[in-house]
Amino acid sequence: MSGTEYDVVVIGGGPAGYAAGIKAAQLGAKTALVEKDEVGGTCLNRGCIPTKALLKTAEVIHEIAGASKRGIKIANPEVSVDMPRVIKEKNKVVKTLTGGVASLLAANGVDLIKGEGRLLTPNRIAVSGQPEIGAKKVILAGGSQVARLPIPGLELPGVLSSTEILDIQEVPPRLVIIGGGVIGVEMAMIFQSFGSKVSIVEAAPRIMPFMDADVAALVRQILKSRGAEIITGLGLSKIEKKGAELSLVLENGAVLAADKVLVSIGRTGDLSAVGDLQIKTEKGKIVADDYMETSVPGVFAPGDVNGKKMLAHAAFKMAEVAVFNAVRGAGAAKQKADLRFVPSVVYSFPEAAAVGLTQEEAEKEGPVALGMFPLSYNGKALTADSAEGFVKILADTRYGKILGVHIVGPGAAEIINEAAALMAMEITVHELADIIHGHPTVSEALMEAAADSLGRCIHIPPKKKPG
Ligand SMILES: Cc1cc2nc3c(=O)[nH]c(=O)nc-3n(C[C@H](O)[C@H](O)[C@H](O)COP(=O)(O)OP(=O)(O)OC[C@H]3O[C@@H](n4cnc5c(N)ncnc54)[C@H](O)[C@@H]3O)c2cc1C
Repeated sequence: MSGTEYDVVVIGGGPAGYAAGIKAAQLGAKTALVEKDEVGGTCLNRGCIPTKALLKTAEVIHEIAGASKRGIKIANPEVSVDMPRVIKEKNKVVKTLTGGVASLLAANGVDLIKGEGRLLTPNRIAVSGQPEIGAKKVILAGGSQVARLPIPGLELPGVLSSTEILDIQEVPPRLVIIGGGVIGVEMAMIFQSFGSKVSIVEAAPRIMPFMDADVAALVRQILKSRGAEIITGLGLSKIEKKGAELSLVLENGAVLAADKVLVSIGRTGDLSAVGDLQIKTEKGKIVADDYMETSVPGVFAPGDVNGKKMLAHAAFKMAEVAVFNAVRGAGAAKQKADLRFVPSVVYSFPEAAAVGLTQEEAEKEGPVALGMFPLSYNGKALTADSAEGFVKILADTRYGKILGVHIVGPGAAEIINEAAALMAMEITVHELADIIHGHPTVSEALMEAAADSLGRCIHIPPKKKPG
């Protein structure tokens, strides 16, 4: 059965796929998007959005707990969580956004084909339950799925993935989280606020090993101050069912008891769309070059599926670049996806955000000027009783080039976009220190940190005595 011929067929309707579909249509290409599940992909259905909906609920509980400090009297301070209702509200937000994506695709004239896509050749695609379709160019945007580890007991009931925990119907009294990366830390914050006793087990020497060490240390301290147990440098050997509870045996023989276990140890590419194609892969991801093209000419692979930067906003950019290169007219120069200034955020409360190099990475490249502005000197953070945090800036000592910015504090996820913009525009710390920022704002701490890297910050005491 032979179906329609398209200029571009996109397989996968997550951030990379739907952005690619819309971009291709905008550029005048006859476009179809094949999706085996719901449009919106991991991000909208089981990632960015649902976790942030739960995090907001957790943050509200946290704020209520701190209300009496501000002089607010609450008659019955007992707070508990109606989990089915929390999940229902989260699902409402997800539905609004996925519905929005479907409407955008339709409004741009992209044909949405429901089914599992599989490449037969670089130009023919089989779709389960649908006629085969043809494409001049293909965008493989299959994204990622939960990685599995060969550890005994991971298949037991009560051992959940990051997808499954998003639909949990009750708050587990004891939750053990395997993996202290971004998902593990966000889930720890959520369930700690909901009332669980949370333990994190991380095999690396510290949680959030991909973040700057000062950021990771402060987030660890905050989690611990709220009652979390954090075990680092130790892996999990097995999980056993012991009566009603789960018993986790760690590499050193130590045993942890849990009511539920969350396994958040990473994600691997969903390669189901590759089908019969001989395409270069590495560690479970499709190899794509800077132009987002795979080893098969005319087949592009933006987003999580190539593993370059597994973030939704990076997926959007990679998708735009892939489509431009796929449909560009003869003579138009190819575009590269520049992923040097992609901000990354851990939506803990307070938030932790970063762009560019960590201190450890920057110091490997040469002498570094460090600017550090603690939020305990920031008026806006103090008024919000959220002064636990800092803005840290790393610059090269010669020209003042900004190498990295690391923030823990309220609004860090927003402020980091300013830092990314300045770095992309090659603004130096000298120039940043001169940019007037509104007062009182948390973001003025970015300007203050730049000034500190030059030894001329007004609002913190001098490190050396004058004269
Ligand atoms: C718990 C969690 C929280 C996260 N939070 C954030 C965050 O706060 N910020 C952020 O930037 N990122 C976050 N991420 C990461 C983000 O979700 C991903 O980077 C992003 O979704 C990648 O987009 P993508 O389009 O490449 O892949 P995906 O979103 O995974 O989409 C791939 C789509 O392709 C479909 N598909 C796969 N194979 C086929 C096939 N053969 N045929 C048809 N359809 C197919 C899938 O069904 C899916 O819909 C989070 C991830 C998780 C798991």
